[in-house]
Amino acid sequence: MMKPSDAQPVSRKSPWVKVGAPARKILPARDLVKPDTSKPALAGVKGGVRADIKSQTRETLAETLKEWGEQPFRAEQVLDWLYKRRATCWDAMSNLPKALRDRLAERFTLGAIELVRKQGSRDTTQKFLWRLRDGALIESVLIPANPALYGEASDRHTLCVSTQVGCAYGCKFCASGLDGWKRNLTPDEIVEQVLAVEWLSGFEFQVSSSSEASADAKPETRNQKPETRLVSNLVIMGMGEPLANYDNLLRALSILNAPWGGGIGARKITISTSGLAPQIRRLADEPLQFKLAISLHGATDEVRTKLMPVNRRFPIHELAAACDYHFQKKGKMITFEYILIAGVNDHVSQVRPLAHLAQRLHAKVNLIPYNSVEGLEWQRPTEEAQEAFLAALERWHVPATLRREKGHDIDAACGQLRLKTERELGGLA
Ligand code: SAH
Ligand code: SF4
Repeated sequence: MMKPSDAQPVSRKSPWVKVGAPARKILPARDLVKPDTSKPALAGVKGGVRADIKSQTRETLAETLKEWGEQPFRAEQVLDWLYKRRATCWDAMSNLPKALRDRLAERFTLGAIELVRKQGSRDTTQKFLWRLRDGALIESVLIPANPALYGEASDRHTLCVSTQVGCAYGCKFCASGLDGWKRNLTPDEIVEQVLAVEWLSGFEFQVSSSSEASADAKPETRNQKPETRLVSNLVIMGMGEPLANYDNLLRALSILNAPWGGGIGARKITISTSGLAPQIRRLADEPLQFKLAISLHGATDEVRTKLMPVNRRFPIHELAAACDYHFQKKGKMITFEYILIAGVNDHVSQVRPLAHLAQRLHAKVNLIPYNSVEGLEWQRPTEEAQEAFLAALERWHVPATLRREKGHDIDAACGQLRLKTERELGGLA
C-alpha cells in the first residue's frame, strides 16, 4: 500500500475532504464544500463530449489505440496504470510517450469521484457520500464480513454501489426514490466507487498512523497491491434501479470483473432489482454468472403493489416467469429480499404465499428489518414479530435468514445519507 508521503503531490488542491476523522463522527454540513461548477460537464452524460477512460473495456481501448496506429501492448500499459497503479493523471503514465498521453487526454477524461462525507469506523460498516463532476451526490456502503470484534483482521469486504442518481421507481419505503430520478451513472462512475473506497480505506490507515501525512496531497497514483485488495464482493444495491441502467451497469461490471480491471469474480457480484422482468431475462442470457436478488417485499400482488408501484407494470406472475427463465438459464438459486415492515407485510398470512413462491422459484429469503427513513411513517416490527415470521417460513422448509442490519445507526439503507446531506445543504445536487 502506498504511503501518502510517497505520493507525488500535484499542484492542484486535493479534492479529497478530511478523511481519518474519528469513528462515527460525520463532517458537519458547514464543512461540506459546494461543487465547483466551473468544471466541465460530466462526460458520457447528455451534452458531455468526452467519455472517461474508466468506461473503456480492454477491447474498446485496444480498438481506439489500433486506429491511432499504436502497438497492441500500449492498451495493456494503459490498463495497468489505471487498475494496478490506479493513476489519477495522465502524466503519471511515465512509460507512455508524451504524444500518446496528450492524445489520450484529448480523447478521454480521467476522473475521480470526490468524497463529501463519511460515516462509520474502520471495523464496522462505513458509508461514503460522493460528489460527481456535475455536483450530483451518490452513496456507497462498505461492509466488513467479519468485523474485527476481537482484534482479528476482517478478511472480506462487501461494497454496496449505486447505479443511478436517485431512482424513478418510487418504492414507498425507500429514501432513494423520494426526490425522483436524476440520471444514470456512467460506467466509470460505478467503477470509481470501488477504486475510491479502496484508496481512501488505505489512506485513512496511513493518515492515522503517520503524523507527517497530509490529507491535502493528491497523489498521481492510488495503487493498492492486487493481493491486498479490500473489496472482494459487490452488491449492486445502492441508490437506483441497476437494471434500468443496464448497459452502463454491464459495462462497469465487466471492467470490475476482468482480470486486468477490478478482478472481482462474477459469482461475488450480486445484482438487486425491484423486478424489471424483461431485463431479468436479458441478464439470464449474459455469459457472466452474476447472482440475482429480487426486492420482493410482498408475496401477493395486493401487498406488493402497495409498497412498490413497479408491481403494476410487472405483477408477480410476470416477475416469477422471468425468474423461472433465469433459473433455467443459470441453474442458480436467487435471493428474495423481504423487508419486514410493521403492519404492512409482516403478518403471518404472508408466509404461505411467500413460501410457495420461494419453493417454485428456487429462492432463498433474506428478511430485512425495515430501516426507518426520515419523513416516512413505516416502522420495523418488534424482534419477536421478526423471529415469528422467520420461524413460520422455516416450517415451510424455505432457506431463510433474518438480517441484523449492519449500519442501522449510520443510515445504511440506500439513499438516506444523500437525502440528509441534501436537506442540510438546501438541495445541493
Ligand atoms: N433498486 C434495486 C437496488 C437498490 S435498493 C432494488 O430495489 O432492489 C437495495 C435494497 O435496499 C432493496 O432490497 C431495497 O428494497 C432495500 N431498502 C430500501 N429502503 C430500505 C429501508 N428503508 N430499509 C431496509 N431496506 C431498504
Ligand atoms: Fe428504487 Fe430500489 Fe429504492 Fe425501489 S427500493 S425506490 S427500485 S432504489
